[in-house]
Amino acid sequence: MPELPEVETIRHQLQQKIAGKTIKSVEVRYPKVVHGMSATEFARAIQNKKIKDIGRQGKLVLIRFDGNTLVVHLKMTGRLLFHNPPHPSLTLREGVKKFPPLRVRPASPAKRGEGGAGGVTKSTEVVFTFTNGTVLHYDDIRRFGYMKIVPTDEEAKFVQKEQLGIDFFDKAMIFENFRDLIRSRGGSQIKPLLMKQSLIAGIGNIYAQEACFEARVHPLRKANTLSDRELKELHNALRAIMQKAVKYHGSSVDAFVDAYGQPGKFVPHLKVYGREGEPCRRCKTQLVKKNIGGRGTVFCPKCQT
Ligand SMILES: [Zn+2]
Repeated sequence: MPELPEVETIRHQLQQKIAGKTIKSVEVRYPKVVHGMSATEFARAIQNKKIKDIGRQGKLVLIRFDGNTLVVHLKMTGRLLFHNPPHPSLTLREGVKKFPPLRVRPASPAKRGEGGAGGVTKSTEVVFTFTNGTVLHYDDIRRFGYMKIVPTDEEAKFVQKEQLGIDFFDKAMIFENFRDLIRSRGGSQIKPLLMKQSLIAGIGNIYAQEACFEARVHPLRKANTLSDRELKELHNALRAIMQKAVKYHGSSVDAFVDAYGQPGKFVPHLKVYGREGEPCRRCKTQLVKKNIGGRGTVFCPKCQT
């Protein structure tokens, strides 16, 4: 599932590509993706509307119009793909191949028939066409994601209803607030606690493991036994790792691709996730994997205490 860095990658790319654009038409190909209203009402609500900006709360993408917000939850395999198709008249003209391709970037996953920013596939659920001819697709192979339109001034209420806590990149997430939030959960195990979206939104299975490793904290440690210094290290690690992951456009450990259909490039920088049995990068001890709170967790049994 995309976590904060992956969703932030998409938010940032969409901010560059679709903010300021006006939606010309909306084609809902899978009506169940729309929650709270019919597909027709959904299309009518945002047709001819201009996108003001793109926000994010935890793993939710918030596409804001004047007065309304389109909330998109990508869940496991949802993809928002920006596509800049060549003008139809160009493809008809002879010698068009002499011109450089008009696509923003080559959409290699699309060529393999996995979706990508190349065109409509059988997993395309919604097609947004903008007045300048560019297109945004919502694709979802497993169909768990959803879209919902809420009044922008009720965004906070919606987030609360979804039981989403404060976003880890929120400017209020300073160390003291992080420490108090973690300590408020008493004897809970730290790694599952970091992933608890109702407490802090955005941290998932990958980055919780990486942060525990970086801070040398055993993933089973109880929240109320962590010292100020350890919590400070965890807070620093989460920020540093996730900021770096955004720079690399996220980790594509599963089906994740960015808004251009390209996989993220952060996986080679992961130090424990997916590396069970390999030597610890700090002390060379063999990394172990344990099921913690229902999720596989890799850590170093020696230097994480
Ligand atoms: Zn180690």
